Amino acid sequence: MSKKVPHKILLTEDRLPQAWYNVQADMPNLPAPALHPLTQKPAGPADLAPIFAPELIKQEVSTERWIEIPEEVRAAYRQYRPSPLYRAYSLEKALDTPARIYYKYEGVSPAGSHKPNSAIPQAYYNKAAGIKRLTTETGAGQWGSALSQACNHFGLECVVYMVKVSYFQKPYRRIFMELYGAEVIPSPSDRTEAGRKILEKDIDSPGSLGMAISEAVEDAVKREDTNYTLGSVLNHVCLHQTVIGLEAKEQLALVDEYPDIIIGCCGGGSNFAGIAFPFLMDKFKGKALRAVAVEPTACPTLTKGVFAYDYGDTAKLTPLLSMYTLGHDFVPPGIHAGGLRYHGASPLVSQLYEDGIIEAMGVGQRSVFEAASLFARMEGILPAPESSHAIQAAIIEAQRCKEAGKAETILFNLSGHGHFDLGSYERFLASDLEDVDYSPQMVEKSLKDLPQI
Ligand SMILES: *Cc1c(COP(=O)(O)O)cnc(C)c1O
Repeated sequence: MSKKVPHKILLTEDRLPQAWYNVQADMPNLPAPALHPLTQKPAGPADLAPIFAPELIKQEVSTERWIEIPEEVRAAYRQYRPSPLYRAYSLEKALDTPARIYYKYEGVSPAGSHKPNSAIPQAYYNKAAGIKRLTTETGAGQWGSALSQACNHFGLECVVYMVKVSYFQKPYRRIFMELYGAEVIPSPSDRTEAGRKILEKDIDSPGSLGMAISEAVEDAVKREDTNYTLGSVLNHVCLHQTVIGLEAKEQLALVDEYPDIIIGCCGGGSNFAGIAFPFLMDKFKGKALRAVAVEPTACPTLTKGVFAYDYGDTAKLTPLLSMYTLGHDFVPPGIHAGGLRYHGASPLVSQLYEDGIIEAMGVGQRSVFEAASLFARMEGILPAPESSHAIQAAIIEAQRCKEAGKAETILFNLSGHGHFDLGSYERFLASDLEDVDYSPQMVEKSLKDLPQI
């Protein structure tokens, strides 16, 4: 590549994608259908209607390749999109690698992560369906932040069940949500039957995304004017996030580049889906590329879990999803990347992994913070601990390129900034971060409770 690539590659607002890319149009095997939690029969639109807007239910099962982004959603996107694509010149130099490293930066959104890409359309479609109030769960607080802003934008009430350990670890996230009018409740709580049951067994439960989902779903089921929203995992969330990869593709094309490797961190799988799926479109047609989902070794859903039907939550209220899972009652250790503490993974990402189309990698907490600190010093951006899993994987790949003398092009998604995570960075600086590993015994135990389908 003789052409000098600029430090950042920007698209003008008129280049904002007109439509989301739906991977279900092209993937070789569609995920097995979601099943009703009680009957274990395929869950139809009528089963999902009590908690989801009709348009989102349609998107969940659509096999149309392109789904138009409504103008009201594009207008809200334009506040922060298209997001910048950076060439990581300083990081490349520090690593002394022949690889060219690019990162798409989603931390420019008002909530500081990629989450508004789905919060905005979810609030929009619910408003259009006459819903007045939305419930949700949040781990690190990023999804709750995004949804509270989106609800504020479209004039909806917002109730957020926040995983208890994060509620206390990240008070600023709670304040942020409250500033936009959301009600934030530490989960497990005594507000719901699901929460009360968990507290009866363990009054000190740190909470988990699985538990918070149970509470938010129960709240939505009980009220006519209320729907539930999920910030990851589901097909429609992955769909909305494809604006990331669609923009990145166009940005790379502007500098005559195409990635050999695409990397995203993976909690429920939505930001990975967002950056990777638009490129997989080419892989399905024979183009050679690798897509790598990166997860914490403490919560190794893809690398150590099983591919099976499982509930999305602890109380078994959600439909059964066909996915990689560590078991719905697996409580991940309290690692600092709260957004990656989930027992399952998106059915789309899981199916693509099962079919060998994408890869997965696990990285440990301490190496992730080392990578984050190198990245911050080289590139100037303080990354979210979640996103830093992708940074660490990009560094590993860049080092491999160095050893092999290969000038590959690496693209990773920097899913958010870490400005609300300074408590975690403080622990890192004080050398007070454990390399938490998952417990095989705990996984074995929680996998025993998988539903028999
Ligand atoms: C929520 C979050 C994640 C993990 O969720 P995915 O659905 O896997 O993308 C990753 N990074 C950031 C910054 C987040 O807020």
